[in-house]
Amino acid sequence: MNKDKSRVIELSESLKNKIAAGEVIEAPFSCVKELIENSIDADASQITIDIEDGGKRLMNVSDNGLGIHPDDLTLAIRRYSTSKIKSSDDLQLINSLGFRGEALSSIASVSQLEILSKHIDSEIGKYIRVENGEILEEKIKQRQRGTSVIVKYLFNNYPARRKFLHSASAEFRRILGEVVPKCIAFPEISFILTHNGREVINVRSGSMEERLLSIMDELLLNSLLPLEYEGDNGIKIEGWIQKPNIPSQKKYYLFVNRRNVWDGKIFRLLRDFYTPFSNENPSFILFITLPTEMVDVNVHPTKKEVRFHRENVLLANLHRALDETLGEESNYRKDLFSFDKDYLFTGDTQSKFWQLHDSYIVAQTRNGMVVIDQHAAHERILYDNLRNNTFFPSQTLLFPIQIKHTPLEVSKLEEIQDKLKQLGFRFHILSGNTVIWEGVPAIVEEIADEQIIGILEDLAEDRETTIDKVIKSISCHMAIKAGNALTSQEMEHLVNLLFATEKPFRCPHGRPVIYEIPLKELEKRFER
Ligand code: ADP
Ligand code: MG
Repeated sequence: MNKDKSRVIELSESLKNKIAAGEVIEAPFSCVKELIENSIDADASQITIDIEDGGKRLMNVSDNGLGIHPDDLTLAIRRYSTSKIKSSDDLQLINSLGFRGEALSSIASVSQLEILSKHIDSEIGKYIRVENGEILEEKIKQRQRGTSVIVKYLFNNYPARRKFLHSASAEFRRILGEVVPKCIAFPEISFILTHNGREVINVRSGSMEERLLSIMDELLLNSLLPLEYEGDNGIKIEGWIQKPNIPSQKKYYLFVNRRNVWDGKIFRLLRDFYTPFSNENPSFILFITLPTEMVDVNVHPTKKEVRFHRENVLLANLHRALDETLGEESNYRKDLFSFDKDYLFTGDTQSKFWQLHDSYIVAQTRNGMVVIDQHAAHERILYDNLRNNTFFPSQTLLFPIQIKHTPLEVSKLEEIQDKLKQLGFRFHILSGNTVIWEGVPAIVEEIADEQIIGILEDLAEDRETTIDKVIKSISCHMAIKAGNALTSQEMEHLVNLLFATEKPFRCPHGRPVIYEIPLKELEKRFER
């Protein structure tokens, strides 16, 4: 046994740096990403990226930004040296793409690195050459304002890593995967990208539309629908999403405060929203802008993931943005929702309905099977019927219902008394915040007291009561619940009524009603 194994020692600085480098610099593409982000943080308006052999031989990122001061150049390649944050308070409000001060030091420790920079306030430019983290050359050298960073032979001193690099063309593809999102997010910056001397990208500064036209494929652009949504809490969502009736190009670009990131929850929300129309993941180019304090970018060294404070607020906003964009105003909604029952089902649907757990209706469809949430389906049917009403006759209750509300609720009920009257609700208020409900809309008369109470409580609790909200509440309380056994005829009737509505796929609250499982999916699961 090797006894040395049981003793603890502190690693040398160069080894520490190498280990840290492994987290930030995975392959050439991560270098390119970090270097471009540095150029953007330096307010460059022109960035040129030259790549040789997929970055394995050389990567040169040059910009016309603010530059690095000659006195700071050797510091910039030290670990945790940054000009972007000064104290831990700054971590909460990061506006730059970088802030960890790790990239240059990591790159320096696993490559041959050369930097030439001229700072905006300096007369002279400075050049350094570094190998394995050691400065081998340092001199004054002229250059126009800006910075060039040249990285050669990445991981040459780190065979375990070098071995895992892919072919030059595969590595270059991964580099493209970093450059393209930057081009999209920063249309005001000109970008040139070359590979082995061949120009691959050359885009001049311009509008977002011009940028997309010059960099994205036409097929993708034609399959997208613009989205613009001003949400609450300072959240803004803009960009493009897949037209629902078109095959997906499977391109996903998400930017949070102009940083391209990946977020599983947002991706799933989009996918679920499109599930009723397509089994493919929808393409999107989405820009989410939100107050800096709502995002934490200091989650992972590569900053590819972010964490949202009050994530639910963001997701709710995104849901509304999608609803609005694919909403009634849009022609697409029509294509989408006039989904015909005869198309979905095979025609011969007699007695082909089953019920699961007294809650879900299961049926065979043309392409596979569907699961229908019986409560959500009934809710949709009732809501659509009620919405067509403009007049709601009131029915006097034989036994008035007495409810004790909170003072706040009572004052609100008083405020909206007229609106409620229009809907058929009649009540009067006793002392001690007790409300006697004497009349309710005739349509709810038949349902049990406890459901009526549910509706009345919703009325009092809702922050702002609109007719639409009242109708939603009535539909929800009147609808059959999960746990109700249905006969085969009842199920068929329910499905028929559901498909007579305008939007059978979503309940009034926006939740899915129908979940289709295609045969193809089943075949995949059974490995056929
Ligand atoms: P970070 O970007 O997290 O600050 P880096 O290691 O990437 O850390 O860079 C260290 C510092 O070097 C930056 O904070 C910045 O001051 C300077 N720097 C790096 N690249 C450039 C550039 N292209 N232009 C101007 N300054 C740069
Ligand atoms: Mg950086």
